[in-house]
Amino acid sequence: MKKAGDLLAYFFDQKTLASIHTWSKLFSAWPSIVTKHKIAAAESHTRVVEFDRRVLLIEAEHPGWIQILQIKQSELLHEFQSRFPDLDIVGISFRLSRTPFAPSIQTPEPRPPEMSPAPEAVVDEDTANLSDKERFERSMKRLEQSIIARERTRTHDFNKEAPKERGIQAHGEDVATLHSGAWIEIKHCLLCPRHCGVNRTAGERGYCGESAKLRLAVASIHHGEEPLITGTGGSGAIFVSGCNLGCVFCQNHQISHEGMGREVDITEFVAICLKLQALGAENINIVTGTHAIPAIVAGLKQARADGLVIPTLWNSSAYESLEALSLLDDVIDVYLPDLKTLDPNLGARFFNAPDYPEYATKAILRMLDTRVLRVSASSTLRSGVIIRHLVLPGYLEATRETLRWFAEHCQGQALISVMTQYTLPRTIDAHVKDAPKRCMSEREYETVLGWLEEFDIEDGFYQELASDSDWLPDFTRQNPFSSTLSTTVWHFQSP
Ligand code: SF4
Repeated sequence: MKKAGDLLAYFFDQKTLASIHTWSKLFSAWPSIVTKHKIAAAESHTRVVEFDRRVLLIEAEHPGWIQILQIKQSELLHEFQSRFPDLDIVGISFRLSRTPFAPSIQTPEPRPPEMSPAPEAVVDEDTANLSDKERFERSMKRLEQSIIARERTRTHDFNKEAPKERGIQAHGEDVATLHSGAWIEIKHCLLCPRHCGVNRTAGERGYCGESAKLRLAVASIHHGEEPLITGTGGSGAIFVSGCNLGCVFCQNHQISHEGMGREVDITEFVAICLKLQALGAENINIVTGTHAIPAIVAGLKQARADGLVIPTLWNSSAYESLEALSLLDDVIDVYLPDLKTLDPNLGARFFNAPDYPEYATKAILRMLDTRVLRVSASSTLRSGVIIRHLVLPGYLEATRETLRWFAEHCQGQALISVMTQYTLPRTIDAHVKDAPKRCMSEREYETVLGWLEEFDIEDGFYQELASDSDWLPDFTRQNPFSSTLSTTVWHFQSP
């Protein structure tokens, strides 16, 4: 009869086996480390859950435990580094656990009844109620993934990339340069399809209304996104000031059109990301950052180096150039693009961009090429693309064409999210002539649901029909959304 060790040796070579042993020790060393550093009872309320990009992720049952561990963070890091020198550990990060530590029977969160994630998605099951054999197989899978992640980390040296100057090319010209200590220089801006060519470093502003400095309006734990984005912990949304598209009916017009927000440096951006993570956010969700891509890329790389391990989302209009999108390859895990319309006339009328359909479809196809659907153990998206389409009341034919395009080009590779919440913010009524001034009717709603069936679109989500506009955000408030929908972590008017 073969022993477990013999079986392992059969499947793995000696080098890999050595790695497995090291990894196994890494995860089991936590109780002895916290005991040695006199953090009483921490072994029962905290645990090591992941090692990715050379950073250990520790989960805690309560925010108080995170505070206690943060006080001893450097001591703990030093202890890990001296016990596991081969792993080249550079940091420790913390997050709230979403599951109780005591063994309990968990009922999985029900999925939306109408539509379900694509069958190709890779789903990691919860460990509760697994047999010993299943637990063993799962451990082996984790070890394998950890080893792969470690190899990836070896070939991806964040320290090398962050500080040095790097030109960003678009159409053969330098559009942005990253500098150590500063955000970016953009002397001739061709970042997005508007091609303004302005010197943003000198303070000139193009269509997006923003200089080269990154400005943010709000960061919050948001519970109103799609279930695969929100999970149980909420999405860590960071709202960027300015916008390169500027829809006339934008529900965030205070920040996209009026420029509410304030400048942040790279240190503050990283601190915001890490705070969202520490408060249990499932992901970092960058909202409308297309015009600030170089700054955000630099910030996310630094955040990764400083301990950010949760997935990153790019939540955009999709009015983006392929060159600018390629800069996101190393830092973004999930894409959440809009596909607003395929009708150039609507593009011209509502966002002054008749070329929107051409740019947006190319951008989305590129996103599909670079990210496959993967769902994590906590039933949130680890990687992939969700395409959002907001139905415009009175313009249903445009929705039909959009759904048809999705069915022909994205079915099975991405999820769709059909949004029916259109309402014109009361405060911008005076400026808008053409935009629909009513919500979607029940009849229109039924029609759109019928098209989902007609095109056999099963993978994704659709909203309930909104009956009021109470949910519209007001970014002058500390919490722009309702308190049940979001918790503010950073606001531009706070010190
Ligand atoms: S990012 Fe702004 S300034 Fe640059 S091209 Fe686009 S709209 Fe113009």
